[in-house]
Amino acid sequence: MKISVLRIGHRLVRDDRVTTHSALVARAFGADRIYMTGIDQSVSDTVAGVGKRWGGPDFEVEVISDWKALARSWKKEGGKIAHLTMYGINIDDAVEPMRKEDKILVIIGAEKVPREAYDLADYNIAVGNQPHSEIAALAIFLDRMFAGRQFKKEFAGGRLKIVPAEKGKQVKENK
Ligand code: SAM
Repeated sequence: MKISVLRIGHRLVRDDRVTTHSALVARAFGADRIYMTGIDQSVSDTVAGVGKRWGGPDFEVEVISDWKALARSWKKEGGKIAHLTMYGINIDDAVEPMRKEDKILVIIGAEKVPREAYDLADYNIAVGNQPHSEIAALAIFLDRMFAGRQFKKEFAGGRLKIVPAEKGKQVKENK
């Protein structure tokens, strides 16, 4: 199953950290790319820098101008759309059918999410029905979809590699 992320909306400066963290979560929790609208180059540069340092160069940040066109072509190619919203059905009541899908585009918002996102979505999914954050919602969604397997993924090609340690930090330098 392939999962890509679409982040709708980005308020320059105000959303810089949240948008960057959404991309880092997408990368570290098993998504293969994140589409973003309206971001400046700094977000892509930060994520590219993380890839160079910690591996996994195959994660893409793609800046797009028309998210509805992307969503429509995604569906035309047989992909499904899961829109994360506190108004949706709870994730545990939908995860089984979603895991059977080949490819899912998961939508997270920033500012007010337009009505079309709810209508275009095959699944409107709540991670609990309380307002919180796109970062937490995306992390839980990806972890439920991959059932923890995403943390076994090899991030090859980086300059550094962490050796899990009970205490302190152990980092191997890839020559
Ligand atoms: N106020 C905006 C609105 O109502 O459209 C959304 C702001 S919210 C902080 C930003 C994003 O976080 C939402 O678009 C949604 O993707 C995600 N989010 C927040 N709480 C959520 C929840 N309980 N379940 C799923 N997604 C959630």
